[in-house]
Amino acid sequence: MAYESLLSPLTIGPLTLRNRVVMGSMHTGLEDHAWDIPKLAAYFAERARGGTGLIITGGYAPNKRGWLKPFASEMSSRLHAAQHRRVTGAVHEEGGAIAMQILHAGRYAYTPFSVSASAVQAPINPFKPAALSDKAVDATVSDFAKSVALAKKAGYDAVEIMGSEGYLINQFLAERTNQREDRWGGTLTNRMRFPVEIVRRSRELVGDDFPIIFRLSILDLVDDGQTWEETVELAYALQDAGVSVFNTGIGWHEARVPTIITQVPRGAWLDMTARLKAEVDIPVCASNRINTPELAEAAIAEGKADLVSMARPLLADPEFAKKTAEGRTDEINTCIACNQACLDHAFSNKAASCLVNPRAARETTLVLSPTRVKATVAVVGAGPAGLAAATSAAERGFEVTLFEKSSQIGGQFRLAMAVPGKEDFKDTLRYFGRRLEVLGVDVRLDTEATTADLKPFDHVIVSTGVTPRVPQIAGSEDERVVTYADVLSGRVVPGRRVAVIGAGGIGVDVSAWLTHRPETLDEWKARWGVGDPATFRGGLTTPVLEAPARQVTLLQRKSTPIGIRLGKTSGWAHRAHLKQDGVKQVRGATYDKIEAGDDAVTLHYAVDGQPHTLEVDHVILCAGQESVRNLWTERDNWHLIGGADVAAELDAKRAIKQGTEVAAGL
Ligand code: NAP
Ligand code: SF4
Repeated sequence: MAYESLLSPLTIGPLTLRNRVVMGSMHTGLEDHAWDIPKLAAYFAERARGGTGLIITGGYAPNKRGWLKPFASEMSSRLHAAQHRRVTGAVHEEGGAIAMQILHAGRYAYTPFSVSASAVQAPINPFKPAALSDKAVDATVSDFAKSVALAKKAGYDAVEIMGSEGYLINQFLAERTNQREDRWGGTLTNRMRFPVEIVRRSRELVGDDFPIIFRLSILDLVDDGQTWEETVELAYALQDAGVSVFNTGIGWHEARVPTIITQVPRGAWLDMTARLKAEVDIPVCASNRINTPELAEAAIAEGKADLVSMARPLLADPEFAKKTAEGRTDEINTCIACNQACLDHAFSNKAASCLVNPRAARETTLVLSPTRVKATVAVVGAGPAGLAAATSAAERGFEVTLFEKSSQIGGQFRLAMAVPGKEDFKDTLRYFGRRLEVLGVDVRLDTEATTADLKPFDHVIVSTGVTPRVPQIAGSEDERVVTYADVLSGRVVPGRRVAVIGAGGIGVDVSAWLTHRPETLDEWKARWGVGDPATFRGGLTTPVLEAPARQVTLLQRKSTPIGIRLGKTSGWAHRAHLKQDGVKQVRGATYDKIEAGDDAVTLHYAVDGQPHTLEVDHVILCAGQESVRNLWTERDNWHLIGGADVAAELDAKRAIKQGTEVAAGL
């Protein structure tokens, strides 16, 4: 595949982009402090060097009331503009182009001083906003325009005005959050006045030779959101006011429909982008759940979009565009849409990075520099930790041998990719597999390394992983009591009635696996209640639920709500899934015994001292893991990583980071 459409240049006024690959806005935390500007410059320069057509920064507030959190990023002074010359200069040196995103958080600001169109609190924020006065709205418009002008002064090639995901501009547009009765509220013309004035006044300040991108919410996915008619009216008005490109946004942050996580089908929202493109005369950029060059190419070639925005995929692989252009797409480190190290961190006030690429936003601190000493490295175990260690060490120039006792690489990750909605995980194993080949790692599958085998090596990295924990419950030796590994590997096919013991990430995943029925994109949308915004305001309608494939009871000993420790930006969707699929949830359970019958097994358990029985075809144990350390002894130049190190926090994010760090420190 030549990727001709994706790789063709695009001219937007005075700016010619070398291709249609856009790195969408993603707040990493590096934006928030002037002292991090060198790191920010290195982060973007790496993406520009990787051939990205256009980079869009994380959001910068036009004033203090627009901060995402206290002391967050802002573009409101000449000093700010001067500081950013280092960022724009670094990108330009690599032949890239960069736009600054101007974002006013409105009622999403995590501060007690937040403001909005009306004093209506967001369900995802403990702070209630104050309604802006007429004068303050006008001043905010001016602040936006001033930021745009300052971004131009800082050397940015364009700006993106953030008008989607439920931030301030969206809050003015939707009746849900705009209950004003003055010239900024009520009729559509009045609600549109805020963004239209922002664009008009920005255009006045920067003239015609500076592209203004507007991120337009084409599907709000909240009650009392916008209708399609309103969105199109707004697009016309913004186009007339001077917008050069529309980027598209799907869903407010408070929406209760998943829009970007792995379980959202790839390309789910492209038809909405195509619908906007058919209405307007300027280029339109697609976004959300596009993570491969094939999908991006098809979107443009089929006329659904002119550009494709990929924020997380460019965190995962800064060379996405370069590898595509060089026909090396099998070497792309694909974003698996897990949110675990990017958005989950951003929404927890932690520095964002990437699960599959822990160097993201750490380009200057996690460096894989060429080794000065030629040395040999043995890595034992080809799960995520071992794969990261082996490839990182080989990248540094070490001579690496990777031992794996099974016939395939991947470890626990191979099980995870069997979970519905986690199919993208297979791309991580494809990436690592190819990387091992390219770097010439000596991979020895079906080989259980012994201490003698490891003796000749200068460094030994032990990443022998974990084994599922089998809790001591009387009767658990029955063959119908199995582990999650037995089920996800396909060794055991469970019957129609199942008890799942242990409700951590894997218990929840296994419940999804058990209840799952294959579904089309339309069925997926119906399940989440996504309707046509031309008919349903905000694009929300009544969900249509199909009967689940199995009856599942999910149990845990804790009395806390099930799934409470799942990812900040995805846990709610997993919990909603359990409800949709009728998974019965039991908390505070103590397990007494499992009794074998001819046609079923009976789980005897108690809650609050009250005995219960549950007759099922299978009991699946998802009770955590134990480290496998049979090879491990404390020695010089031996390192223990991944689940073999800490099973309690078995987690691919930690494993890949630790593997990379150990290799970087050899
Ligand atoms: P986990 O999160 O530690 O959960 C293990 C579960 O087993 C807990 O619910 C625990 O709850 C129960 N348990 C522990 N010891 C037990 C015993 N002796 N008898 C009975 N029950 C016992 O482990 P996991 O589910 O295997 O997940 C491992 C890691 O994978 C997680 O830490 C997570 O990082 C990652 N992961 C995340 C996701 C996600 O975020 N969607 C999905 C999959 C995996 P009680 O003690 O209350 O019974
Ligand atoms: Fe993608 Fe997960 Fe990396 Fe975020 S952390 S960029 S979702 S792979």
